[in-house]
Amino acid sequence: MALSEDLRLPVACPNCGSHLMRIPSVKNPDDKVHCASCQRFVCLYHEACTVLKQGPGSDSEALIEKAVNRGG
Ligand SMILES: [Zn+2]
Repeated sequence: MALSEDLRLPVACPNCGSHLMRIPSVKNPDDKVHCASCQRFVCLYHEACTVLKQGPGSDSEALIEKAVNRGG
């Protein structure tokens, strides 16, 4: 039974540049999304959904950057 799954984001992890994120298989909006490569907190699940919807671009990059900084 998998407790998490991988999700490819249009925005790269600010820490290592990977696009592959690990998301919980139970997709609560406030669940944390971590980089699958370096394990850094990247954003919350609902923010990942927004980025997926928006696609790559400055809006998505700004959203991820804000989330990463907030998550410490
Ligand atoms: Zn990373």
